[in-house]
Amino acid sequence: MRRAGFARLPFRTQFNMICSAPMKVAVIGGGVLGMEMARRLHEMEAAVTLFTKSGKLGGKLARMASYEPEFHIGSASAAQYIEEKIRPLEESLRSSIPIKEVEVLRVNKRFLAPEEHVEGRSRLSDLFRVIYRVDPTELIKTQQVENPELYKNFDEEMLKSLGEELEAFEDFDMVVDASGVMENPNHLGPGGVPALNELGLSKKGKSFYGWDFIEGLKSNLDKKNIVIAGFDEAAALAVLELKNWLGNRSNILTLVCEKNRPFENLSNSTKVKFESFMNEAEAGFTKEMEEYREKVFAWRELDEHIKAKTPMPTEPRPPFEILLSSYITSIDCLVDQEGWFLTVENKEENLRTLKADIVLSLKGFKKGRSLSEGLQTHYNFGMTNPVNDDGIHPEAGFYTLIGSDIEMGISKIDPIIENMLSFFSKVEN
Ligand SMILES: Cc1cc2nc3c(=O)[nH]c(=O)nc-3n(C[C@H](O)[C@H](O)[C@H](O)COP(=O)(O)OP(=O)(O)OC[C@H]3O[C@@H](n4cnc5c(N)ncnc54)[C@H](O)[C@@H]3O)c2cc1C
Repeated sequence: MRRAGFARLPFRTQFNMICSAPMKVAVIGGGVLGMEMARRLHEMEAAVTLFTKSGKLGGKLARMASYEPEFHIGSASAAQYIEEKIRPLEESLRSSIPIKEVEVLRVNKRFLAPEEHVEGRSRLSDLFRVIYRVDPTELIKTQQVENPELYKNFDEEMLKSLGEELEAFEDFDMVVDASGVMENPNHLGPGGVPALNELGLSKKGKSFYGWDFIEGLKSNLDKKNIVIAGFDEAAALAVLELKNWLGNRSNILTLVCEKNRPFENLSNSTKVKFESFMNEAEAGFTKEMEEYREKVFAWRELDEHIKAKTPMPTEPRPPFEILLSSYITSIDCLVDQEGWFLTVENKEENLRTLKADIVLSLKGFKKGRSLSEGLQTHYNFGMTNPVNDDGIHPEAGFYTLIGSDIEMGISKIDPIIENMLSFFSKVEN
């Protein structure tokens, strides 16, 4: 049995030690940060495996670039960034390290329970087990071609059971979780938790979470009542996406914002578009109100007998409504009606009911915990980040690489690598 995980030398150029096998590191997540981390570790001669559940590397930035190419990452647009940085990096990673296109389900220690301590050693003496989902369908298809005789004897039931999802694993010395937060968008309720009835009702295809809102909107532009819960970039983009839809004044958009001052931290390109849209909407509404006042004035001047037969002009509705410091706390639906009824509460304890044909939950994301449940991790209350700013957990050798933007995420790579190396200097002493 080997002494400690870090006795198997990875970074031999750094430590000038002779070793038989390089350090095995799993990087989970093929977004910008996971790719950059994998590149750095590979350059340091670690044996890196990159796990990613989506076929194309680049993560959400790649998705965003195709949706909104004008986003700027530093001085480059998102589309340029992907073309000039991410695709060449993808090519070089694919030719130099194993990339497993699978979903990692969890990471745990082979033998140690999360609360266990090892006398006189670090928990690195036990390897990390990375468990991932395997889809056996492709495997079965190949085997059926290669060994038709064997499969001829299997009945329907047997074939079905072979097709059921499998789990597989690989062991590593260290693990970097760069799976991002965007897979785990917040729910509609206060603090991102589910509102009453949300979990059950959300299966009915009327609520869309995080970046799925783009697909959600595309297929629902025939609906009349849309509610957006959110206050930042994604909510602003969703409003912009609805510009033409709002041109039909019988459509009703309501924004439910937990914040009192929403849309303060928009990226520059969204800010410009959003502000111009808001100014246009306000100018349009002011004009409608002026026209309305003139019509009311004219209506009042009518002779009494004509006025009695002429309906009073109806006051125009604002193009959309923003409810500030408000929270969706409950969803109800009636058996005889399409759509939902949302209860919205605010801090002054006012209640409001909104009709919604679809709801977009664009209230940010939080780090899911399921991946690392079996480890000694330490996240902040909202689970958005590890408590340690650099992504270092109490579990030696397990790291969360995360950043509110790419630059910040990349700035965390050095401290993580430094922490990894600190275990090697221990061996050297
Ligand atoms: C609207 C918006 C605007 C932004 N604007 C900017 C900007 O202007 N400038 C800037 O620098 N940043 C910006 N950002 C932030 C930037 O997009 C992110 O910092 C960056 O994309 C995060 O990359 P990542 O590698 O951490 O995660 P992601 O891109 O989310 O990648 C995570 C990867 O992990 C994979 N994955 C997830 N779970 C698993 C699993 N269990 N097993 C295997 N693989 C898994 C996913 O498929 C994905 O490929 C913006 C973000 C948003 C949402």
